[in-house]
Amino acid sequence: MESGSLSVVIPVYNEEENVGPLHEQLQAALANWPGEVEFLFVDDGSTDATLEILKRAQMADPRIRIARFRRNLGQTAAMGAGFHLAKGHAVVTLDGDLQNDPAEIPRLVPMLADYDVVCGIRTRRQDTWWKRRSSRIANGFRNWVTKDDIVDTGCTLKAYRRECVERLELYNGMHRFLPTLLRMRGFRVAQVPVSHRPRRAGKTKYDTWRRMKKGLADVWAVRWMKKNWIPYEAVLEVVETPENVEVRSQESV
Ligand code: UDP
Ligand code: MG
Repeated sequence: MESGSLSVVIPVYNEEENVGPLHEQLQAALANWPGEVEFLFVDDGSTDATLEILKRAQMADPRIRIARFRRNLGQTAAMGAGFHLAKGHAVVTLDGDLQNDPAEIPRLVPMLADYDVVCGIRTRRQDTWWKRRSSRIANGFRNWVTKDDIVDTGCTLKAYRRECVERLELYNGMHRFLPTLLRMRGFRVAQVPVSHRPRRAGKTKYDTWRRMKKGLADVWAVRWMKKNWIPYEAVLEVVETPENVEVRSQESV
């Protein structure tokens, strides 16, 4: 895809009521986008009509690409597959339940001129008190242990230059640490306020307590990674074989 091209990566698991309206909102938001666009839905083993609805929408809009896991592997896996498959120069991720507003995309992507990653910070977050509270605790603890300052890592709405994510190897749960893991690799990370909407259809896929426990435990793995990261590229030189070596070795035979 040419420069200015955009891949929107959307992990979806049993979002049959949401994928249709989301596709419409994406079309409207990107109607005047100057470059090529793909809507890459990663169906994480849905057991409802999500896949059927996406296939139908794809007949009318060839910009839709669908990848699918035969069984549910989790949001990290779905995002990882999307990162590897995305063809656009810019990659935007957002939730498939309409909680992120596609209208934010044209505002975030141009910021990639100055940054490698642009992370949304959900303002006036439309979630339960318990969910907001557990997020605040998790973000605080995560930043303290990993020595970082990411305000809202749980906001899926983020924009990336493709080179940041196309070779990332993700382990289960690591989608919660992407800004820290990318900063560690030397990428420039910006954070901007974005709008947030309530989930109107379908159910959350997470038990808040279980997610918090997993998120807090995973912090130690990320701390270890950060501590042991080797930025070898900064000092790497490849010593090329001199061009005449082959000639000389032939001469000596
Ligand atoms: N999701 C997914 N696989 C999962 C769990 C969630 O692809 O195993 C998707 C889900 O369909 C949604 C996004 O990840 O598009 C965020 O999930 P959810 O809205 O349930 O999270 P919450 O908003 O409750 O934090
Ligand atoms: Mg949601």
